[in-house]
Amino acid sequence: MAHRMEEPLQPADEQHWSHPIKCMLFLWKVRLPLIALPVLMGLRRLAGKDGLAMAGATPWSWELALVFAITIGTGLFQLPFSCTWWILLIAAFALETQMLVGVATVCSLTVLLAWYGSVRLYPHAICALWTCRLGKAADTYAGSIPFWVWQVWDLAVHAAPAILMLVWHGPSIGTDGVVRRGTVTPTALAVAMPLCLVWFWSMSLALGRAPWKAYFRDTNAVYQVIPNIPDRCWHWIYGSHIAASSLWFALLVLPAGAARCATLVPILFGWHVFARLHFREDLLVGRTTFFVAAHIFGAWGLYRTFAHPSTLRLWVEVVTMWQIGGFGITCGAHRLWSHRSFIAELPFRVFLMLLNTFANQGTIVHWARDHRAHHKWTDTPADPHDTRRGFFYAHMGWLLLPKTQELKTKGAEVPYADLLADPVVAFQKWAEDKFMFMELVSFGLPAVYGHWVYGDALLGFLVHGALRWLCTLHATWCVNSVAHYFGENSYDTQASARESWFTVLVADGEGWHSYHHKYPWDYATSEFGAHRQWNPSKILIDVAVLLGQARHTKRADHLARKAAGRASS
Ligand SMILES: [Zn+2]
Ligand SMILES: [Zn+2]
Repeated sequence: MAHRMEEPLQPADEQHWSHPIKCMLFLWKVRLPLIALPVLMGLRRLAGKDGLAMAGATPWSWELALVFAITIGTGLFQLPFSCTWWILLIAAFALETQMLVGVATVCSLTVLLAWYGSVRLYPHAICALWTCRLGKAADTYAGSIPFWVWQVWDLAVHAAPAILMLVWHGPSIGTDGVVRRGTVTPTALAVAMPLCLVWFWSMSLALGRAPWKAYFRDTNAVYQVIPNIPDRCWHWIYGSHIAASSLWFALLVLPAGAARCATLVPILFGWHVFARLHFREDLLVGRTTFFVAAHIFGAWGLYRTFAHPSTLRLWVEVVTMWQIGGFGITCGAHRLWSHRSFIAELPFRVFLMLLNTFANQGTIVHWARDHRAHHKWTDTPADPHDTRRGFFYAHMGWLLLPKTQELKTKGAEVPYADLLADPVVAFQKWAEDKFMFMELVSFGLPAVYGHWVYGDALLGFLVHGALRWLCTLHATWCVNSVAHYFGENSYDTQASARESWFTVLVADGEGWHSYHHKYPWDYATSEFGAHRQWNPSKILIDVAVLLGQARHTKRADHLARKAAGRASS
């Protein structure tokens, strides 16, 4: 039974399946005749029964003993955790008690999450199935067996029984819209919850290590994948079992409202894992995919506004949210944090940080560093959106390409310690790094709004989320592109920065860019007051001053007048 006792398999070119012993080894590895067929037969039989009619009233102490005996046994024999599941399935098939079926169903979810999640996180884990002690890849190890046969087999013995168990015995929504909780009882869940840890502890005992001194990575000894599976993959495997069964338990025993809150935990966790996988490791591919997807969602959102009975109201909401979120960029990341053109009190800083998070254009730290570099090295290779590389590059292309060495080196010279010293800015960076706070606020909140106000979360996500986000984003990008290409550069005729009324309109008064590049520390970013040069961002800061939330607003209009030889405004 214990395949650990077998000799390591021969390399692929030396394998001859005609040899009876090797043939038996192969049958064991394939497991299909041993496990999958009776399991599938058993599932078919169980499915014909009403779960509640199963022997649920029998004393459960022996079932408890059986479940733990199976788990401890597979651990001591150093069999994979999926073997525990298979044996539990057979026991559930043979004895047909509610607890055994429940425990086997919970472990079915574990197999789906842990196995397919770990293969996604770490494709090399596939080798574990062929116990690649010799370091051979799974597709070459079995020699004559094509890889697709292996994949079909994997689906047959892992995915199919697990999905069938969940469909038949897990929670489901019927065609009548009624939610059924399935046959899994809180008792079965409570028993299933620690099973992977019990297996892990007994496995570590068999390896000669005290359970309290064991590491998850010790599990490598069972699966023998070369190179070893990294820690994060083991965290996923154990974590997903405990998290999924705990959540399921919470849903069964908690009142409805609390249970709904509890469902947020795995959604947040899943989002965190997904985000780290797709948006962090490959910036170029990740960002391009992200922006293309966002524009598709935005276009879909625009279409939905036309198709909706309240078209006008939706547009007013989008424009309002776009402009208000924009203040987080113009007053916050730009005038306050990049240029320090005024001093803001804590409540106003929190307010601006939240608006900035809603606008979601990267953390304030990131945004302000890039912007400081833009002012310091405008239109040189160290300018993040160097306009000499073309309009599209200045607009958004700079975000799709990896940073050049020059940008990295010069960018590192930009001081930003003052940004991290602000706890409000530091919190945003921490929250974004930990659980993609900005994306949740920018896209999740609009979905909640859509659900509450229109009874349509998707509408909220597409219209108030994606469409509104793109409006603010393109408005900001216009400052780097349009306001460096079109308009008068009256304050510095040598510079590319211009006075762009179009940018002013879309970006909360941020388009008086020739003046801004000349006097970047002016909190108004324009020479004249908002009555002459449209500037809602200046109005907001002025209101904050009136409310005692901002002070030391710096102005340069007197310098501009002097330079131009004008007597007064
Ligand atoms: Zn500029
Ligand atoms: Zn600036």
